[in-house]
Amino acid sequence: NLGDRFKDIFKKVRGQGKLTESNMKDALREVRLALLEADVNYSVAKNFVSRIREKALGEEVISGVNPTQQFVKIVNDELVKVLGGTNVALKKAEKGMTVVMLCGLQGAGKTTFSGKLAKFLKSKGEKPFLIGADVYRPAAKKQLKVLAQQVKVGSFTIDESTDALKIVQEGIKAAKDENATYVIIDTAGRLHIDEELMKELHDIKDNVKPDEILLVVDGMTGQDAVNVAKSFNEELDITGVVLTKLDGDTRGGAALSVKEVAGKPIKFISEGEKLDDVSAFHPDRLASRILGMGDVVSLVEKAQEAIDEKEAKKMEEKFRKNQFDFEDFLKQFKMIRKMGSIAGIMKMIPGVDTSMIDMGMAEKEMKKVEAIIYSMTVEERRNPKLLKAGTRKGRIAKGSGVQVNDVNKLIKQFEQMKQMMKMFNSGAIPGLGMMKGR
Ligand code: GDP
Ligand code: MG
Repeated sequence: NLGDRFKDIFKKVRGQGKLTESNMKDALREVRLALLEADVNYSVAKNFVSRIREKALGEEVISGVNPTQQFVKIVNDELVKVLGGTNVALKKAEKGMTVVMLCGLQGAGKTTFSGKLAKFLKSKGEKPFLIGADVYRPAAKKQLKVLAQQVKVGSFTIDESTDALKIVQEGIKAAKDENATYVIIDTAGRLHIDEELMKELHDIKDNVKPDEILLVVDGMTGQDAVNVAKSFNEELDITGVVLTKLDGDTRGGAALSVKEVAGKPIKFISEGEKLDDVSAFHPDRLASRILGMGDVVSLVEKAQEAIDEKEAKKMEEKFRKNQFDFEDFLKQFKMIRKMGSIAGIMKMIPGVDTSMIDMGMAEKEMKKVEAIIYSMTVEERRNPKLLKAGTRKGRIAKGSGVQVNDVNKLIKQFEQMKQMMKMFNSGAIPGLGMMKGR
């Protein structure tokens, strides 16, 4: 099982003073093998490992935690990322009834999931309604009706009809008559994807324009589930995936590959045959379950926060005393990098119209500035006054592959920034409080 494998790997990393290319080599190889054995898609596993390597090597050592713990945190964060980042909730139509169409191969768990989703929604105060449009298996309509009765929600089908579209259209009318807030359409599956199935699904999709098209896939089938998801998405442009039978799948390969390969989020997971065995999908919870290392992760997070806070306080002090130098500038840069790209950060700031900013340009500028500072000697960074000498500027420009003019510009901007910070600190400009901290 993937969790046990990871624990073994972490045990081996333990005792390392610092994460380096050489002492991580074995661990990284084993991570990759563990992922492949868990039936994770090959390129997903490869990318996963290379991102961990990059992050682990760039990471500064945090006091209060050991490198193993830091490594666990990095693996955890990467797991969360491949699993989709955050929970993507089921959509709710802005007005009127929300239409959810289910599709998938035979036996994936569509009909069972219809009942589960109905129960899930009902517990959230919604009024779901079920439509049985699997016209190929006579038992399917009956199965859905029984589920609806168990959950105590309305349902519709036409027993003698094999016209799926007609059943759906009339079913939607019936749902509206009952003032349902959600309507869940159970469709037919096949053993394999074929044209007939896709045509039927397309017809329903084009006709009722569902708010959600959820593909139900059997998690136990591993890579096959991922390939099915990819094909269905290419054909139908689905809005999300439901992974079933995770109770029988201890490997987790499908969950780890689906988002990256099919590009659509997992919205629900099902872990048993009973109506309650369903839950909204939360990447962080599954990651923590796979690793079984939730405590370590939160420990590192806390240490990280403490460091950032300490760092921010130190920075603040320096601003106040006007001792801010290029080394601090570089540190700030690294902090920003840790938060992601400039484009990403700008988009998070409310009120900033990012359409007016050339993001590519901004990133390029930032890289240039970074290169210039890296080309300074430590003395120069700590004592920017030294930079008045033309020979130094020439050397730095050469070293960073820019014009002397660019170096001049940076020094000028740096002085302006210090000036501005002085004003902030003297209270001339209110609101600096908001910029402090993380
Ligand atoms: P459909 O053909 O896609 O509609 O699939 P069904 O809903 O009829 O389910 C097929 C079989 O899988 C049934 O025996 C279900 O009880 C079973 N099943 C569905 N979901 C799960 C699950 O999460 N765990 C397990 N163990 N069985 C499941
Ligand atoms: Mg069915």
